[in-house]
Amino acid sequence: MQKKKMIVVQCWDDGVTTDARLTDLLRQLQIPATFNLCPGMYDKRARFGWIHKQTEVWRLGWDEMRSVYNGFTIANHSLTHPNLCDLPVTEARHEIAVARDRLQQFFGQPVMGFVYPFGAFNSTIMTLVKETGHCYARTTQPAEQSFPPANPMAFHPNCHFLSQDFWLQYENSRKWGLFYFWGHSYELISENLWQEFEVKLRRITEDPCSVWGELPQLFSGSDLTAT
Ligand SMILES: [Zn+2]
Repeated sequence: MQKKKMIVVQCWDDGVTTDARLTDLLRQLQIPATFNLCPGMYDKRARFGWIHKQTEVWRLGWDEMRSVYNGFTIANHSLTHPNLCDLPVTEARHEIAVARDRLQQFFGQPVMGFVYPFGAFNSTIMTLVKETGHCYARTTQPAEQSFPPANPMAFHPNCHFLSQDFWLQYENSRKWGLFYFWGHSYELISENLWQEFEVKLRRITEDPCSVWGELPQLFSGSDLTAT
């Protein structure tokens, strides 16, 4: 009997200029990914955002977005990246709903996923995300969980891409049939880290018991049994 392959999915947050190098690499290796964007945070051109470990992080500009993300899946990370739990309900709804509309219009693709800014959510926020047309919402809590998730509005990734136990979590995930990692491309602050990440990607691609998948497809009701 043929064994089911584990589906491997990944997503990346915040829409930063290092996503251009990441999408080039993923295109070259023919690996899918989802990018979680905050459409209220970008100018026409790239602009300075903040410092991460002595390295400048720049937000992408709208001018570059279509080419950087061409061929990849876009998900909603709110309009301006607030802690949604701190906002009045009407403002939280605005952050979630307007962002989804803008992303769908700009990229011309359905936006099915949501990612909680700062990983912050509660039952009200989960309801808003569901009501505004999203079929899953990712947290930042690493967790081993069954798939499909018990609550798609609290879809926990298995681990961060730089996690020390990345491969342990990868192996542990086989019994669920899904491995989900996430990160920010601005965390790739050295050539070493880029090389290590490429090695990870290639190792997964070469694993005959795994297959790369797209996040929205997991919730599309289509057959998940990749063989
Ligand atoms: Zn974020």
